[in-house]
Amino acid sequence: MTDYTVKETIDARGSMCPGPLMELVRAIKEHEVGDVIDLLSTDAGSPKDIPAWLEKTGHHLVEIRDDESGEFTHIVVKKGEKKKRERRRRRKENAEEEGNDMVAKIIVVGAGTGGTAVANKLHKKLKSKAEITVVDPTFKHPYQPGTLFSMFRRETQKSLIKDGRKLFPKAVNLVEDAVKLIKTEEKKVETVGGKTLDYDYIVLSAGARYAFETAEWWNESIHEFYTMDGADKLADALDDFNGGTIVVSIADIPYKCPPAPVEAAMLIDDFYKKKKMRDKVKIVYTSPLSRAFSIETTNIRVEQYLKEKNIEWLTLFNVEDVDTEERVIYSMEGDDIDYDMLIMVPPHRGHQFLIDSGIAKGHGWIPTNRETLEVEGQENMWALGDGTNIATSKAGSTAHYSAPVIAANIAALVKGQEPKAIYDGHVQCFFLTEMGKSMFIDFNYSKPPKPSPTRKIWWWFKLLFKPMYFKLVATGKV
Ligand SMILES: Cc1cc2nc3c(=O)[nH]c(=O)nc-3n(C[C@H](O)[C@H](O)[C@H](O)COP(=O)(O)OP(=O)(O)OC[C@H]3O[C@@H](n4cnc5c(N)ncnc54)[C@H](O)[C@@H]3O)c2cc1C
Repeated sequence: MTDYTVKETIDARGSMCPGPLMELVRAIKEHEVGDVIDLLSTDAGSPKDIPAWLEKTGHHLVEIRDDESGEFTHIVVKKGEKKKRERRRRRKENAEEEGNDMVAKIIVVGAGTGGTAVANKLHKKLKSKAEITVVDPTFKHPYQPGTLFSMFRRETQKSLIKDGRKLFPKAVNLVEDAVKLIKTEEKKVETVGGKTLDYDYIVLSAGARYAFETAEWWNESIHEFYTMDGADKLADALDDFNGGTIVVSIADIPYKCPPAPVEAAMLIDDFYKKKKMRDKVKIVYTSPLSRAFSIETTNIRVEQYLKEKNIEWLTLFNVEDVDTEERVIYSMEGDDIDYDMLIMVPPHRGHQFLIDSGIAKGHGWIPTNRETLEVEGQENMWALGDGTNIATSKAGSTAHYSAPVIAANIAALVKGQEPKAIYDGHVQCFFLTEMGKSMFIDFNYSKPPKPSPTRKIWWWFKLLFKPMYFKLVATGKV
């Protein structure tokens, strides 16, 4: 011990527990770092209590001397600063960790194909790092391609509509309400039901709405198969139809699932062939574009099928008016067609709440970067699916392939990383040509589709897809 200069010797001999320890605490407080303190004690508990306290506080116990007469000497060096610095460092680290662990509030607007997939994928990636809230007015999740089957009584609403709540893990909050306004500056969402929800990140996936009110001539006599009720009503009308002209037309562009109306025309052909009354039914299909189907490579095949099936098609037919009394449909281009039954794709628009929130203009389509899927001019906001203005098909597969991109980019930001995922415009589609046969098309921004041969196998895939959709696609498992 000759190396140490003892600054204080505490004589606590005769003092009972906790006297010696209290004396030591007092001395440690009074001395400087590095000072050496000798503590003399006779209390039998000292050799146990004093080392335990020193270990906890970090002061250095150099030596304990026991002179075997019941007298102990503890030689202590005050080392408080190191311990203090260490504690400060740990606190800082903890605070930083807590900062990283801060729970990000993510709102997903709409629980359809895109919203359900993106919320599931976000939960999988972020777990407790995010509080995910999905807002939807009903949480009834329809399998929309199914109406092409229910219009021929091959599906029912019961088989096509699932309880959307069951497609989310319990950790995702579900708010059954419609979004009324997004206050982008304050990062708040207001609902029709009067709730206000905060967010750090928001995903817009409220799809498109059917804007019947924009076609002043639309009334009950015009059939459609874009809603579940409309498809059921059409099934009755197709059954009861005794013959005449059926026109399948498109009220306005853009509309979801570009193949659907021409598929409907071909399936109607098949339906009346099987009913053995095809000769009594004239089928006319109108396209607003200069060809029957938008994508040229696929159109060649589509027009070939229409010809083979004796379905007339009129191109550059943009609907101007429908006289439902006289049963005539007029185009802006100057054509008119008499009909007995009119089946029409309803006009589509984006949602009013997006216009009211200053996110979208005009028809309500969301200005969206086609690769990053960020909403243009907005902070921490992404969009996918039918509601965007991206120039690709409004299709479930578009939403499906967009969901992982948004989930990856939000997750990266939450974890303090750079968002890098890019949507390449991938779309896939089974293209029905009759009940029992289908084409398959697959394309992206840079690769136009090369339609597969029309085969039964693609039909079977189409049928298999519905259970796969609810199990794997909507739930974000694939
Ligand atoms: C007849 C038909 C056939 C089709 N066939 C195919 C096909 O073969 N292949 C294919 O890929 N796609 C097909 N589609 C298209 C496909 O169903 C849609 O493109 C897809 O569902 C779009 O997903 P989304 O998430 O953008 O919108 P949606 O799935 O429509 O979901 C939108 C959700 O937003 C909710 N919502 C609406 N307003 C609000 C609000 N204010 N606040 C909160 N939530 C709101 C709605 O309740 C809904 O749940 C077809 C569609 C139809 C109609």
